[in-house]
Amino acid sequence: MRGVIRGLRSTEILSMDLRVHWHRIAAATLLVALAAAAVLGEGRLAAAPQAPLGGRAAGAVDRAAGPAAEAGTRGRVLFSADGRYAFPLAGDITDMAWTHYHWNGGDAVDILARPGLSASSLAFRRFERSSVVAVTAGVVSRADNALGGTALVLRGDDLREYYYAHLSETWVVKPTRVRVGELLATIGRTGRWAQYLERHLHFAIASRWHRGLAWKTDVNAAEWFRSEFDLAWIDQTPGPYPAAYPSGSPLPPPYRIVRSFAEMRSRNPDLASIELAPEGGSVGLAVALPAHGNRGTGSSRAAAQDGAQAGVYSTLTGEVRVLRGTVVGLRVQVTNRHTSQTVVFSGLLAATVRTGDVVRRGGLIGATTGAIDYEYFDDGLLTDPTPTLSGRR
Ligand SMILES: [Zn+2]
Repeated sequence: MRGVIRGLRSTEILSMDLRVHWHRIAAATLLVALAAAAVLGEGRLAAAPQAPLGGRAAGAVDRAAGPAAEAGTRGRVLFSADGRYAFPLAGDITDMAWTHYHWNGGDAVDILARPGLSASSLAFRRFERSSVVAVTAGVVSRADNALGGTALVLRGDDLREYYYAHLSETWVVKPTRVRVGELLATIGRTGRWAQYLERHLHFAIASRWHRGLAWKTDVNAAEWFRSEFDLAWIDQTPGPYPAAYPSGSPLPPPYRIVRSFAEMRSRNPDLASIELAPEGGSVGLAVALPAHGNRGTGSSRAAAQDGAQAGVYSTLTGEVRVLRGTVVGLRVQVTNRHTSQTVVFSGLLAATVRTGDVVRRGGLIGATTGAIDYEYFDDGLLTDPTPTLSGRR
């Protein structure tokens, strides 16, 4: 399992969770879960839920309510016209967004708070506690794994399988029969890399039941949302841009290196960066901050200081992904697909770019009043960006 993780390209992991589809990473865990399901047989899985969500008694989930089984969920459940299917998240769907294809081109979806929602808004906070529900009647099992974190597989009575990842809480302990729309879990950021991303639901569909290791996402989830619930995906296809490598500094001179790559790596080997700060406080730059959306959540660093605003500039030409409300505050990631280069800027006060934008090297991406963390992934490998700061590459 370690070897598999090491072999991952973290450029892609960072751009969104499951690069290696869970059937590879979760193989061992799933094998156990599915074997258990097979032994027990679907018809006899009537185990009472344990560790109920939010302190609710297990019995509070109304199993007799059929398509109206919304007990315990936060927000309403959206059902298909025939009542056979439910949208996987309860709540206000206008606050949610997903793209036609998963970030890696696959058929899974990442359901996120819609772009433009400020991380400090009520709607964003509400989204972060969204209830995850059974999309159809079937047997749900745990499928926890290193990258997906706390995860579930629902083996539907429709003979399809549904996968939910990065959950925070779930009452599901062992294979259990559930009804459509029944509360299963709460979204979260579990999994090796998801902690650095926004809370979101990774959701995938397989066209048939699998036993063992051959799980395959072969139904496009966004298209399924459209056909069953008449819901549209958002398109974030970036415009064309040339191949490039990182070069130059995200802060204009004068700046200083507050913490070196070696120092940061000794603190967090997974996510080593260099910490840069504007020097002298006179770098004041009137950055037009967006009125809403793309604002930081009071990253302690940005909030603690009240100095002049400094612009933060991309060091790479590529596609933008803005991550709000992560454990390290507001993050802007720029990836150049042609060269497999990714740079990540964290601790911003606000971003002036949006997910799906193409930014040129030297283009303004946001502002800071303090220090920022700057990370560099060279073909997936966490790399010291210091030599690139001078602009030579
Ligand atoms: Zn995903």
